[in-house]
Amino acid sequence: MEFRLTPEEYGGLEVSNVAMIAVTQELEKSSVPFELGNHVSNILYNCKGEQIDKYLMPCIRGEKTSAFGLSEPASGADPSMLQTTATPDGDDFIINGTKMFPTFADVADFVQLFARLPGTKGREGVTCFLIDTGTSGYQVARSIATIAGTEPCELVFENCRVHKSQVLGEIGNGWALNQAWLGARRFQVGIRAHGKAERVLHVVRDLVRHEPKDAEQFAGRVGYFLGEIEALHTLTYLGAWKADQKMDARSEAANVKLFATELLHRVTDFALEVGGQSALRKNHALARTFRHARATRIVEGPSEIQRHIIQRELFRDGAAILELQ
Ligand SMILES: Cc1cc2nc3c(=O)[nH]c(=O)nc-3n(C[C@H](O)[C@H](O)[C@H](O)COP(=O)(O)OP(=O)(O)OC[C@H]3O[C@@H](n4cnc5c(N)ncnc54)[C@H](O)[C@@H]3O)c2cc1C
Repeated sequence: MEFRLTPEEYGGLEVSNVAMIAVTQELEKSSVPFELGNHVSNILYNCKGEQIDKYLMPCIRGEKTSAFGLSEPASGADPSMLQTTATPDGDDFIINGTKMFPTFADVADFVQLFARLPGTKGREGVTCFLIDTGTSGYQVARSIATIAGTEPCELVFENCRVHKSQVLGEIGNGWALNQAWLGARRFQVGIRAHGKAERVLHVVRDLVRHEPKDAEQFAGRVGYFLGEIEALHTLTYLGAWKADQKMDARSEAANVKLFATELLHRVTDFALEVGGQSALRKNHALARTFRHARATRIVEGPSEIQRHIIQRELFRDGAAILELQ
């Protein structure tokens, strides 16, 4: 798994994942939505030939942005059910289908679009295309307001013709690409939730600072949450270190996302209890964080899917251990 801040060959500093985590966590303690570097999708480092100057470099320079089109009306938690088709036609592919919820698709310059070759199912035949906004047959049908605070889109592809040079990576290799993207994003969502959870605990501290009775009443639960944050800290850095060593960190990515987003949700629920009625105002920072926290338990794969990944990775090695007993 690679999170990939810009590598040296493209003018970046190629800082480690461990360093990236330390900075991201600190940024998330602010309510100002900072972004670390330009928003470059990690799979765009698979760009080849002209794609590098057309897509990758402008994204690195902050001149272009992309959206990620994987989820569909009947394919969310399980992307292997995706139904959008890419039918070969000479040197082109004809894309047909609907994508639900790609974030920023209404403002992005292009979309990383996942479609399957005719006659394939499951993980086979999935192919990633880079499709420019404005391409004939590609339409942003609507944007959808969510409790997450963002307005992702519905994209419709109707006989959208794209040249084979728009394939990212290899034809039929799109499953590996979407999993690489999701793995990195799960880590990032988790790290951000981790930073936010710390921030929420600071808010709780400020709320009870001048109320000795409240401080006493809530101290036990604050201590409990601090312990969980410490445990998450260790888990997060272990995952980042494994990724830096080029070790398999899929289980850690799922664990960090699961643990951090569930923790953020519980910590914010607690903070709303401490804050009482004033924190329940719709635009209060804690109320906003609470809504956002709920959404993070679903996006980039719901908690149930993360649990499934963790047990799958455990039993991948664990099966042999069990047989020995
Ligand atoms: C704010 C926001 C932004 C998004 N941005 C993007 C984006 O940029 N690009 C993109 O492609 N998608 C995006 N999505 C879509 C998001 O990734 C999906 O919502 C998510 O993967 C879940 O899919 P679903 O909503 O269709 O849920 P479903 O697949 O319908 O699942 C519903 C629930 O069923 C349960 N469930 C499903 N499968 C299993 C299982 N195998 N085992 C146990 N329980 C299960 C889970 O509890 C799950 O929450 C975004 C969504 C939101 C809300």
